[in-house]
Amino acid sequence: MLTDLKQRLHAIESVEMPVEQAYGFSTRSRSSVSKALSAARYYCPICNRWYSRFAPFGLRGRPNARCPGCGSLERHRFLWLYMIGRRRLLRPGCRILHVAPEACIQKRLQTRLHVKYLGIDRYDDDANAEQQDLTDLPYLKNTFDLVICNHVLEHIPDDRKAIAEIARILHPSGHALIMVPIDRNRQSTYEDHNITSPSERHQAFGHPYHVRICGWDYADRISSVGMFVLQAHSTQLTEHMRRMNRINKTVLYDCTLQRS
Ligand SMILES: [Zn+2]
Repeated sequence: MLTDLKQRLHAIESVEMPVEQAYGFSTRSRSSVSKALSAARYYCPICNRWYSRFAPFGLRGRPNARCPGCGSLERHRFLWLYMIGRRRLLRPGCRILHVAPEACIQKRLQTRLHVKYLGIDRYDDDANAEQQDLTDLPYLKNTFDLVICNHVLEHIPDDRKAIAEIARILHPSGHALIMVPIDRNRQSTYEDHNITSPSERHQAFGHPYHVRICGWDYADRISSVGMFVLQAHSTQLTEHMRRMNRINKTVLYDCTLQRS
């Protein structure tokens, strides 16, 4: 063994053998390793893994959107980065209400042993959640420190009532993180309660189960029930972060009962 090592060192010193060969791996294998590493250019902060690309998602097959590991989409990854970047949101003992839980985020929150997690869903009884109506919740006021409500309100005709319920059950020092799909070209939210069939809604609102198209004024609707709204834009992340985590242009409303 020692003789073999001496021979290898001698070979390197006398430039008879490339270093890679002397240490037991070829230049070719090193090249394929670095190729594989450089191919993994996208990172999912929810399942903490690198991927060469994400899967397409949506009615139009939006490319490079869905994490192949945990199923997260761009908005989930932005929401997750926002939450873990602010320690006060997931502090020990924090009581969390997660509305229509996304499995990828639910799984991560449920494994954080120091938080008290509850998921609710109106229809989906497979979502590992209590079946509850967001416009009529059975919880006492001030019950939750963090409410997560991601892409839900655009499905609810009386969304003001749902927002009022979120404000009612939120602790005075708590936060509600709310996201809705915003039409970035639209200032005013458009809705028409006479449009009720899935096909008409698809035509009017771009989705068979949406009851409105939200514009930039949607934050005013949240404020109108007495919550303060801080708008967090994904464009505030660095270009590098958005590219690496595959995050598109989106906005998250960080809502509180007291001005923060
Ligand atoms: Zn993932």
